[in-house]
Amino acid sequence: MPAAQGRFSRQVRVPQIGESGQAKLAHAKVLIVGVGALGTHTAEALGRAGVGQLLLVDRDIVELSNLQRQHLFEEGDATNGTPKAVAAAARLARLNSGCEVQPHVADCSAAFLDETFPSDAAKPDLVLDGTDNFPTRYLLNDWCARHDVPWIYAGAVGTEGAAMVIPPRGPCLRCIWPDPPANADVANCETAGILSPAIAAVTAFQVAEALKLLTGNTEATAAGIFTCDVWRGSYQRQELATTPAPDCPVCSRQDFPALSAPPTAAVTLCGRDAVQVDPPRREPVDLATLATRLQGAVEELRRTPHLLRFVADGCRFSVFPGGRALVFGVRDPLRARALYDRWVGLG
Ligand SMILES: [Zn+2]
Repeated sequence: MPAAQGRFSRQVRVPQIGESGQAKLAHAKVLIVGVGALGTHTAEALGRAGVGQLLLVDRDIVELSNLQRQHLFEEGDATNGTPKAVAAAARLARLNSGCEVQPHVADCSAAFLDETFPSDAAKPDLVLDGTDNFPTRYLLNDWCARHDVPWIYAGAVGTEGAAMVIPPRGPCLRCIWPDPPANADVANCETAGILSPAIAAVTAFQVAEALKLLTGNTEATAAGIFTCDVWRGSYQRQELATTPAPDCPVCSRQDFPALSAPPTAAVTLCGRDAVQVDPPRREPVDLATLATRLQGAVEELRRTPHLLRFVADGCRFSVFPGGRALVFGVRDPLRARALYDRWVGLG
């Protein structure tokens, strides 16, 4: 059936899309990094719009406090502590069986990107920022420039949001902010809260720009940075320089600082009482062996298809296949690392 008569008929009727644009969407591959509030909104919109392939990467599990704004998740996902990428992929498969969705329960690191996209032929057509932290955004910035992939930055906190298209040849995030802001300087959802319409506003910008880029309407790309405050009812776009900063190492292709930074073994999750621990280890942790070893020594030990959960030393652990872990109830990376060594260990 031609797309004009089928499920995409209303979208095809928009002259900027048409049959040819719809066909391009069907062949498009989009990487969404972070499947929380931003990522679930964009994944649902692009999956429904007929994007052929969606790759979802997220390191976290669904919790009850996510449900207020994170589309695609249900109460059962929070009860089961389902990984966000897995829960989102399952829901998307029910929304559009024609969309190929690949969930990755992982930390989006330089090594992850290189392993997932080993060649230019495998790389995505577009990357969408659904993260909650600047170190990952600078990683996306540098990786996308290196591989000539456009990406769309987005962030939202409280009643405000911001979003911006970063073309592969710049200007890039480093042209505007040469260094990532310190974590302490950034308001986050934990301290400032978040209203779902702020998410909807910035992801509407992201999805519209994604549809333009994926259908080849690059001349229509909105330049500059979109900002909004949904409480004030203010939506605006500020024009920025259209050429890269002369001293930007990334746009001049001299250096991609985030790609050579050493991986961190333990990192506090944005605004959360939780630390991700992922130290280098001699061999991967086997969850079945670990479960047997912990039996009787920890509380609430539970194995799911995706992870092993337990409570020890007053902290809740979620350990993923291979050995990466989230430790809840702790903020200090050193303390989390010590707890990890005690209960997961084997390093
Ligand atoms: Zn730049």
